[in-house]
Amino acid sequence: MYIADFHIHSRYSYATSKTCTLEYLDLWARRKGIHIVGTGDFTHPAWRAELKEKLAPAEDGLYILKEEYRLYDEADGKKIDAYGRGQKEMIPRFIISGEISSVYKKEGRSRKVHSLLLLPDFEAAERIADRLSQIGNICSDGRPTLRLDCRDLLELALDECGNSIYIPAHIWTPHFSVFGEFSGFETPDECFGDMTSYVYAMETGLSSDPLMNRRVSVLDDYRLISNSDAHSPGNLGREATLFDVELSYRGIAEAIRTGNGLCGTIEFFPQEGKYHLDGHRKCGVCFTPAETKAHGGVCPVCGRAVTVGVAHRIEEMADRSEEEAKSAAGKEPFESLIPLKEVIAMANGFAVKGKRTEREYMRLLVQLGPEFEVLRKIPVEQISRTAGEQTGCLVDKLRKGKIKWNSGFDGEYGTIDPGVIQ
Ligand SMILES: [Zn+2]
Ligand SMILES: [Zn+2]
Ligand SMILES: [Zn+2]
Repeated sequence: MYIADFHIHSRYSYATSKTCTLEYLDLWARRKGIHIVGTGDFTHPAWRAELKEKLAPAEDGLYILKEEYRLYDEADGKKIDAYGRGQKEMIPRFIISGEISSVYKKEGRSRKVHSLLLLPDFEAAERIADRLSQIGNICSDGRPTLRLDCRDLLELALDECGNSIYIPAHIWTPHFSVFGEFSGFETPDECFGDMTSYVYAMETGLSSDPLMNRRVSVLDDYRLISNSDAHSPGNLGREATLFDVELSYRGIAEAIRTGNGLCGTIEFFPQEGKYHLDGHRKCGVCFTPAETKAHGGVCPVCGRAVTVGVAHRIEEMADRSEEEAKSAAGKEPFESLIPLKEVIAMANGFAVKGKRTEREYMRLLVQLGPEFEVLRKIPVEQISRTAGEQTGCLVDKLRKGKIKWNSGFDGEYGTIDPGVIQ
């Protein structure tokens, strides 16, 4: 079983960390236990040149970072080849990926939609980047903004490379997505028209999980996949997709097209996403969809329209109850997790970004294994012995879904209710 995270960004994208380099992406993929990572930003010429220089071909359509560029953590003065005692570690594979921001007019409305592309080789990346460079500037931002209908982007990608995979990105975010409240569509057909049948999967984004998505029957024909959309290497794998396929581009593409070998997703708790509920961050107003309706969509503090979140948007498009969605989503396994650093901080009363959390995080990786192994697989008793009862107990609750949330809204991430570990 492979853990994959296709949607990430390089340091050439706007508002990303300077450490979004191949060296750190590779290091963090090993720390996290992610097997297949997107390169992100394939359209950017400087990033593409770097990819070509630093990556070596591995299996069909997959690449690995050349040994001379690889970074290693150290413990007790020794270089760490694999996290966790007795663990065998896989060298992360890279797959060529990139995101394009389409801004255009359709049916009298302005549309802003982000799309993710997966490609089998650099030649395809070159050809598609070349075509896009004739439409707009692809050099200023690793995620270029183009006046290009996403139906046309899909057609262009398939024209240049029949094996490319097109996936609408974070489909529910209010501002930049295919179903977004502000500039989205009501059905895939409205957006993609005659090209609709070439869309096989949707990226669900941080603020929704498969259960929420399966309330919406227009998504029935689509596979649901999850990625981190990381803007810094430490955020890799916030969400991810599980594959049981031949390790190759072909294997992955086939799984996305047919669903065979697609084994589910690792999810943020939707409540933790920045746009789960409605409200105004600055006014301190957080509404459920029902509360927003009761207030006529207006913020009682400032009198302006509240920012409508993902839960609300799904409510608008849903034609199934949560109960009905459970049986529809029954075949689709998913796990909800939070990052190990948050677990450590919470359990020990540390600051998430503090030094003590950092030290404990590295200690646990060295002693137990990569982050996903710790969160998903390693027996709770073993975690308790190494990390303390509180941490073990929190991982246990996480795995069982027994966590209470203060939901995210209007750009603010949700937080765990501190009562959870008492
Ligand atoms: Zn995006
Ligand atoms: Zn992105
Ligand atoms: Zn307000």
